[in-house]
Formats: sequence, structure tokens, C-alpha cells
Amino acid sequence: MIRKDKQPSMRAFFLGPKSENESWVRSEIQSILEEWFQYRQSLFPGDPEVISAKERRSIPFLQRREELSSHLSDLLNRLKGETPKFTPRYIGHMVSETSLPAIFGHFAALLHNPNNTSREVSRVTSELEEEAIAMLASMIGYDPNQAQGHFTSGGTIANFEAIWRARFRMDHWVSLALYLAEECGAHFDLIQASHMGWQRYYQLVKEHDVDEKVTRQYSIVGSNPFRTAARLNKYLDKPYEGPVVLVPGNKHFSWVKGTSVFGLGEDAFWTVPLNANGRVDRSALTEMISRAHSQNRPVMMVVTVAGTTETGEIDRVDRTDEILRDMQNNDGLDIWHHVDAAYGGFLCTMLGGEDENLFAPDCLKALKAIRRANSVTLDPHKLGYVPYSCGAFLTLDAENYRMPEYRAPYLERAHVGPEKWAMTLEGSRSAAGVTATWLSGRALGFNPNGMGRIIAATMHAARDAASYLYAQCNGFQILQPLDSNILCFSIAYEGEPLSSVNQRVEAIFDSFLESESFSISKTTLIPENYGALMQAHMDQTGGAIDCDHMVLLRCVFMNPFWAKEAVSNQLLPELAIELQRYSDVFDGL
Ligand SMILES: *Cc1c(COP(=O)(O)O)cnc(C)c1O
Repeated sequence: MIRKDKQPSMRAFFLGPKSENESWVRSEIQSILEEWFQYRQSLFPGDPEVISAKERRSIPFLQRREELSSHLSDLLNRLKGETPKFTPRYIGHMVSETSLPAIFGHFAALLHNPNNTSREVSRVTSELEEEAIAMLASMIGYDPNQAQGHFTSGGTIANFEAIWRARFRMDHWVSLALYLAEECGAHFDLIQASHMGWQRYYQLVKEHDVDEKVTRQYSIVGSNPFRTAARLNKYLDKPYEGPVVLVPGNKHFSWVKGTSVFGLGEDAFWTVPLNANGRVDRSALTEMISRAHSQNRPVMMVVTVAGTTETGEIDRVDRTDEILRDMQNNDGLDIWHHVDAAYGGFLCTMLGGEDENLFAPDCLKALKAIRRANSVTLDPHKLGYVPYSCGAFLTLDAENYRMPEYRAPYLERAHVGPEKWAMTLEGSRSAAGVTATWLSGRALGFNPNGMGRIIAATMHAARDAASYLYAQCNGFQILQPLDSNILCFSIAYEGEPLSSVNQRVEAIFDSFLESESFSISKTTLIPENYGALMQAHMDQTGGAIDCDHMVLLRCVFMNPFWAKEAVSNQLLPELAIELQRYSDVFDGL
């Protein structure tokens, strides 16, 4: 039933569900502490001791310690009530066992507590951040010498970083064009201006010897949005409604938040319909770009998703890239492409190895096209097996990394100094995510022979589970395609209408919640976004879509231990029996 386990050595990188690597982990943690104690003891040897041996033996001191110990044991006890996410029985959400390099890296930095907001307080970890960003850049295929980026608290902020920059870029281009129209009588075309590209921009600045302090008065972001809009209106046949952001229907909710946070208004959020594979519909995308332009609404960015949160689907990043490139070549329109690879970015560790054939050819093309996008979101705290909170934002090059900092002279290339604080949305930033990712990159390697092997095993696990459950459970219907390691399914019989399937799926989910032997999750698809995919799923049994949503059971197979035969041989049958039982109970059998 289960394929041969090819990666026993990879289990050196995890504590193990039974703390199998305990003694080794104990000694590594011990050595981190040893280093830490000795480092303090050896630094500034002439300085006085602050906590004397006498004090340490005093009654009040000992009382305090005892109090703390008891509060700590309270805390430890309470934490044991936490959902156990390290076990292979946890297949609920995008979280699982964290890796040892990540834990060691995180813990080591925690003791030093650097703040990567500025090199003054993080002279080492700021450097490590550059190195870790270069590792992530290589992983997704960016040129590590050109790519820029930084760590964020997660994917949401990384997505915001992309909006921030795309808005900054478009705003610069429009302000310049507006200035030239008002001051030099140049022809003003809003769509051409919004997508002019930096090359044209620099050319115009040079030609007209423009000073950035002046164009700033024409900016929406750097000046007054209402005043600037009124100025723009003079060149438009109807009042300016602002740019739009085209986001596929499989998007994460962070995108809606983003349009609201950046003051674009939620009306700027345009949802691109999905095809029967749950991926961006190519013709819908081109149609929406033209529609936006015909309404004089520039397209601030187009987003694709590599590994959707709901179903793990991989958008055809390559096709969107082609569409945007064609527009650039044929119409001179430069549109920002952002890939939200918060979940799926680490799938790229499999690229170039023999396991890459686990991906369908179209997914492979999509993953290989991420490297052409303007910017990318990654979440090491998901498939990177790094503890929370750790996201990353990367751009193709320094030009795309430019930040809304008007201080930098326009004429210069991007101002990418050594300090990050001016270029990040967040202020103080922990270095723990940096060191966790850095050590993982060093020890595991973000390549097919390291992390790629672990992730390939999770892809196998999802496929093995799909075929086993299909064989064992009546009515088991897989949501196709299974692009990554997230398995969504329903239990539906021939000709059964969706409303009745939904009830069974909900009941099964509730039973899993109660039993606690496995943690699984559920997701709900709606026809506005997923109409074609829902139809394709119902076509498997020929049931009618008689309600406005589809509930699916969802298993995220990212736990690294499923690769072990003993685990899958025991747990898959258990899972199948449980699933069948809950389904039977619902059916009154
Ligand atoms: C998880 C996720 C996000 C948000 O990331 P957080 O780290 O939770 O802020 C964004 N996009 C996608 C596709 C995700 O899966």
C-alpha cells in the first residue's frame, strides 16, 4: 500500500512524535544555554556581579523563585491542553511539527533578542537576514544577487508589502504624467501613465529635468488624495474611481484586508473567476484587465496564488506571466504581478530533483514561473516548518523593492541601504524567524536533497491517503486536482444533491471534532468564486447543485512523519474506519 520510505535520515531534523530524538535535542539545547552562560560570564570581566550568592540564598529571593516556578508549572500544564500539532494525527490546518534547525535557530536568537529594525540593534542578525533572504530567493528561482526582501510576521504582512510597493510605483508614474500635463501641456492618458514603466519614467524625468519635490504635489499617496483626484478629473470623462487589484477567487482573506487598509476601498478588490481546476481563469483575467482600463481604472497589481489556503491549488502563474508580458510588449503597459506563495513557495524545494515529477506538468510550469514575478510572499511558518511568526516578502530586484520613501532621489536607482526600517511596514522585528530560517537553509537545504525530500514525502502522503480512502470508504470523492499536499474531499453518492452531501460532510466533521483522534479541517466553497470547480466535483457523482455553498473535508498532509511506513500503515486504516463510521452514523446505518 505504502511506497518505500526514502528519507529516514530526514528524521534527524525533527524531535519525533514520541520525542525519539530527545537526548540529542537535550544536548543541543544544553549547548545553546552553555554558550549563552559563558558568553555573559566572559564579557566585561571587570564589571561587578549583580546577584550575589548571599542574595540568591535569602528567604525572600527563594520565595520569589518558588512563586515563579509554580506559575510556570501552571503555564506548562495549561499548554498541555493545546491542540497537539506535532503528531501525524494532526492533519487540520497549515501547521505541524516544527523542525529542529528552526527551533534551535529560533531559540538561540531569542536569548540575544536582536531587533532587525536597524543594524544598530542587530548587527549580526541583519546580515543573517540578507543571507536567509538569498536562500529563499534561490529556492524560488530568483537570482539571489538581485533579489531583495525581508522577513515579516507572516504572509498577511508580506502581501501588504506588495500592495504598498505596487501603489508607490503606480503613484510615482501617475504624478509625473500629471505634472507634465499641467506644466508642459503634455498629453495625459491615465492608463498609459499608470503603467508607463520605470524606463519611460526615468527618460521623462531626464528630458524635462523634473524635481521630485515638485511631482510630490501631484501624488495621491504623498500629497492629498482628494486634491490629486480633482486634478486628474480634468483629463477624464468621468470622475476618477481609483485603481483596482485583481485577485483570484481562491485568494486568502488578507487581500480584502489589504485593499481596505491601504485606502483603496474594498470596491478596488476585483475577484477573478476560477476555472474548473480552481485556478485563475485566463480569459476572465484578460477580460477584467480590459474592463478596468475601459473604465479608466488602472490595474495596480495582478495576484496569483501558488498553493491556495483552501484547497492547495496552484494557479497557472506562467499563464498570468505570459498575459502581462504580452501587454507590456504589445501595448507598453507594465503591470505588477505578485505571487502569493505563502503556502506553496516551499514546494519549489522539489524543483530540479527527481521528485518534481510528483507535480502535474502544468503545476511544474507554474512553480517555475514564480521567478519571473515582481514580488512573492512566502511563509516559512507553514511549509518551512519554522515556528511562528515568520513570513517573508521578496522582490525580483532592487527596483521592485523600492519603498514609499520620498527622501530617495528619483533619479537614483533604488535606495536599498543597509537599514530596513524605512522599507518595512513593521517597525521592530524579531530576528528569531530569520535565524530559524537561516539554520534550516544551512542544515536542511532548501533543495531537492534536503527540504525537498521532506515535502515530496508529504505529497506522497496526500496521494496515498487519497487512494486508500477512495478504496476503503463508500462515496469518497476527491476534489480534483490534487496539486499539492492538501486533500479535500466529500462523501457523496450517485445522484445525491449537494445540500444533502453538505449535511453529511458537516456531521462527519463534527464527529471528528468530538473524537479528537484526528484533527482535520473543513472548508466551504461558494459559487461566486468556485462555480466551475464545484460543478466539476458534483459531476463525479452527477448530483445537482441545489444550494449556495459546498462543504468539503480538508486534510493538510504536511506532517513529516507520514513518510514512515509504520505510521501510515497504522493511521490510514484508522482514519478510514473512523471516516466510514461517522458517515454510516449519519446515514443511519
Ligand atoms: C496563510 C496564507 C496567507 C496569510 O499568511 P499569515 O502568515 O497567516 O499572515 C496568505 N496567503 C496564503 C495563500 C496563505 O496560505
